[in-house]
Amino acid sequence: MGNLKFDPEICTGCETTDCLTRCRYLGYDGETARRERAKLNRGEDSPVLRDCVTCYACEEYCPRGNHPFYQLVDLQEQKGIHPVPVPFYEKMVRVFAPKGDFTPATITNTAVNLCLFPDLKPHLKGILFEDSTVLMSKDLFCNLIYLHFGVSSLINERVPGVLEKLAGCGIEELVCFHDECYALYASWAPAYGYDVPFRPVHLFRYLLDRLAENAPRIRKLGLQAAYQRPCSSRLTPEKEPLLDQLFDVVGVTRVLREYDRENALCCGAVFKMQGRKELAEDVNKRNLDDMVRAGAEVCIFNCPFCYMTMKDMISGRGLKPLLISDLCRMALGEEL
Ligand code: SF4
Ligand code: SF4
Repeated sequence: MGNLKFDPEICTGCETTDCLTRCRYLGYDGETARRERAKLNRGEDSPVLRDCVTCYACEEYCPRGNHPFYQLVDLQEQKGIHPVPVPFYEKMVRVFAPKGDFTPATITNTAVNLCLFPDLKPHLKGILFEDSTVLMSKDLFCNLIYLHFGVSSLINERVPGVLEKLAGCGIEELVCFHDECYALYASWAPAYGYDVPFRPVHLFRYLLDRLAENAPRIRKLGLQAAYQRPCSSRLTPEKEPLLDQLFDVVGVTRVLREYDRENALCCGAVFKMQGRKELAEDVNKRNLDDMVRAGAEVCIFNCPFCYMTMKDMISGRGLKPLLISDLCRMALGEEL
């Protein structure tokens, strides 16, 4: 089991306690935030552990990279606090268990990890993916979804096997189609002290590089786009400027709206799993109203899970839901 690099000393002198004061769900003032942070740092119980909706945002809000969200999940597990009902968790553990059917073989071209989303395989075609090997298997599942369940131990149990299988492919780089997979290799694993034996490449970086190679083919799309920022993006916010670059390259305007960037709202799927149906509906309504009000014609997804959760409701509001890779394929003149 890895050990989280969380240091209570780092919080000493942190006057703003951003991890809790900026949380949009707890509603703490500065004094309450400092008091509850101190309790958490001593490993004590706190209402934070029960009231957290696991939006991941405090991991982004901490200006000192101290991993407050990962620490919160460790504490939830230690104290037996379950943000999602246990029977649902147990079902997920069974359904997404590794099957042992992935046999590592040397990959000499670009390895792209599609993880648990075989239904999206038809989207990985055309110039952007022509010289790549697409990997899909429950054996390669990043397992970070269990952060939403208040569980770190299962991730710790499964991640060494995932790293070993990928290392067996002899890869130097792994392109992560799913933002949350990237977060495993670029954030969670290093935070818990695991050596990642390859360089994780975010899909934004990969798409930018492929588009640069095919620059003469690009036609500017002239679309107004809303971006649905996933919860996992809170774990690796450093890649966010790449999305603005991508939109520039394909001639798309990222509409100015309230619920974007650090103020993003999640897709709501996790709130439903937690039995917070009204919160899920409220978040979806505010988010979609905001996209429409801002004049978006398309909604761009970086997370397959958000895409599958929201695509029908997005279409229902007259916007076209698109994976970011499909947006790039459109700019290259490819049929979707
Ligand atoms: S976890 Fe980060 S934001 Fe929170 S008190 Fe510590 S240093 Fe400050
Ligand atoms: S994960 Fe989200 S809801 Fe939970 S404490 Fe952090 S910011 Fe608040």
